[in-house]
This record gives sequence, structure tokens and C-alpha cells, in this order.
Amino acid sequence: MPTTRDLADTVRGGGRLSAADALALYHEAPLPLLGELADAVRARRHPGGIVTYIIDRNVNYTNVCVARCNFCAFYRPVGSSEGYVLGFDEVFRKIDETIALGGVQLLLQGGHNPDLPIEWYEDLFRAVKQRYPTFKLHALSPPEVIHLTRMTKLSVADVIDRLIAAGLDSIPGGGAEILVDRVRKLLNCYGKASADEWLGVMREAHRHGLRTTATMMYGHVETVEERIEHLVRLRALQDETQDDTGGFTAFITWSYQPEHTELGGREATGVEYLRMLALARLVLDNFPSLQASWVTQGGKVGQLSLAYGANDMGSVMIEENVVRAAGAAYCMDEVEIVRNIENAGFVPKRRNMHYEILGDPYFRQQSVPRQLELATARADGDTSRPEELRLYAARSAAEKRQRGADSRG
Ligand code: SF4
Repeated sequence: MPTTRDLADTVRGGGRLSAADALALYHEAPLPLLGELADAVRARRHPGGIVTYIIDRNVNYTNVCVARCNFCAFYRPVGSSEGYVLGFDEVFRKIDETIALGGVQLLLQGGHNPDLPIEWYEDLFRAVKQRYPTFKLHALSPPEVIHLTRMTKLSVADVIDRLIAAGLDSIPGGGAEILVDRVRKLLNCYGKASADEWLGVMREAHRHGLRTTATMMYGHVETVEERIEHLVRLRALQDETQDDTGGFTAFITWSYQPEHTELGGREATGVEYLRMLALARLVLDNFPSLQASWVTQGGKVGQLSLAYGANDMGSVMIEENVVRAAGAAYCMDEVEIVRNIENAGFVPKRRNMHYEILGDPYFRQQSVPRQLELATARADGDTSRPEELRLYAARSAAEKRQRGADSRG
């Protein structure tokens, strides 16, 4: 059995940790040692003390979802009076606001809404690209792609082909939770995508030359062994598919947010977050970047993440709906993100989804309004239904009834 000191030497020498090594480190290494090792890996990969961030907007196009994951406080069932679908005009308005703040992309994800066929996504993507040709769409996590394969009876490759043709630029790593089917069944998210299906979408995306991200939500029903299995499976896929065009750019982990969920329970501590983050930096030796999840952990732990393996502060975000529904409501605009990076002794740089540096902080070049609160998908009480929904055939009984009522006036 290697000792903690042996394992630390393995990491310092650039060696790879096995799952058993990672488990031993998780249980036995003191947190400062994990931080020191992860920080050394970060410094080796990202010299010059550069910490990046992206200005983008996290837009959830619909909250209507048939998947019903028991850890999710965001979704509404089909037919709910609180269900919404954003209109194309609303998305354009959000893009205009994002560009005004120096933003370069939308992170576009939503529920599995049976009344939005693939043509709706294609039309939206095309319309966005026609109006904003250089603006990027980081859109549709693997379970949403699987949902579209089921709606269309097409293969994953064919759905990705169609989405790329319409304007998809990259795929976010949402919906991974823990990539172990025992856990997925307990979270009622095995149906939306098994572990193999999630990885299969990413494999296909990488083969199509797309960059993607990977995530992990821990702290619910999983064991530490299963968290490590998740990391090792991501590392194996990256070994298989990473090349000059495709592969994972970054890994983002956060703790399960229990408020208002069916599953309930307690949130893991900030200390556990730092331990997981550092361990991920050590196991994911083929991942270029690790993001800090300040939106779930808050600014202080987000800033500390930079000493525990993270080299990126993620997104300025502008809007957030999913984590807020589960009780976390942290907000940092660009000024605040840059302040956190600089106060921790690093050099802030704006980036794009490919982690290419775009420049120094935007607010230092351009006057932008301060943003002290994250926007939401819709204003409270706005129950409007987009006009263009009529162009797409309704599939659910509830939507068909609603259309009938709408046409009777
Ligand atoms: S996590 Fe996503 S797929 Fe699961 S219920 Fe929520 S919106 Fe639906």
C-alpha cells in the first residue's frame, strides 16, 4: 500500500493516480497537502498566475421537464401554470444585454419539454446565428441531446450533426451528476441518461470536433468511491477522444443544493468542496482547466478554490435559474470576479469557450453598469406564451388543451 507521502511524490513527479490512490488521498491526506499538490498542478499547467473567466449568460429556455430528477428544484411538470418557454425575441433581448456587458456566448440549457421538437432548436439556433454571427452557443447538455434522439428517433450522431448545422458551437457538461448508474437510479435521473449514454454523447461530440465541459454534482446519495469512479471515467474518455479539435476543456464540480427538492437533505461543507476540487485536479491529469463554482459555494470559497487547483472563475453568468431554485443566490459581476482574482494574487483575463484569452477585464475598457443581482429567465408573474410555439406541433395532452383554449380566445 503506498503511503500518503508516496502518493504525493507520484503527483509531484507527474505520475497518474489510480482510483485506489485517489481514495487513499481523499481519506488520509490533510487538506493543506491536497491544496499544495493541486496548486502545483495548476501552476504547471497555467504559468504566469493567469486566472481566466468568461462573460456569458446562463439561459434556461424552458423549465418544463418530463425527467423529474429528485434533486431538481427548477423543473415544472408538463401543464404546470408555472411552466414557461422563452420566445425567440426574449432570447435575442438577453443576447443584446449580454453583448452590452462584453459577453460572447449563451450557456443555453433547459428542461426536457415534449412540446419543443428538434426544429424549434434548429430555428432558434439559426435565428441567433443570423442576427449575431460571431456570438457562440454553448448549448444542450448530453441528457437534452438524448431527449432529442428519443423525440426524433435519430442517432446521437445525427442529432449532433443537425444541431451543428444550425449553429451549435460546444456542449456543456450538465446532467452528469455522478456517472454511476446505481446513483443515477437513486436520483431518478437514470431515465434521462445512463452514465454510458452521457459519456456516449460526449464521445460523439468530440468526434464531431466539438469542445465540451464535464461536471460533477456530489454530496447526495453517492459514496466517495463513486465520486472517484466518476472522475476516472471522465479521464478515460478524455484519453480516448482528446485531440486538436475535440475533447473536454474543463471540469466543474459543485455540491448538491437541497432546498426545495424532493430528495432534501443537507448541503456539503465548503471544506469538503475544496477537498473534492483538489482531488479532481490530481485525478484529472488530462483536463486542461478546472473551474471554481462560486455560484454554489459563494465568493469566499470561490476565491479559495484558486489555491486548491482551480485556474478559472467560470462565468460572470448574468442570469441563473437552476441553482437559485434550490436556495443558492450568489452573484458576482465582472468587477467582483476580477477583484476576487486579483486579491488572491492572480492575473485576471477574459476568455472564450475554447479558453483562448480575449483580453483584460472588459469593464476597464468600457463603462458597463454594475450588476448586483443575477437576472432570471422571466420576471415574476410573466406567464406569456411565445407566438412562434404555434409553428410546432404540440405533443403533450396538456399543451394540446392549452392551444385549444388559446384558439377559442
Ligand atoms: S435536472 Fe434537468 S432533466 Fe432533471 S428534472 Fe431538472 S430540468 Fe429536468
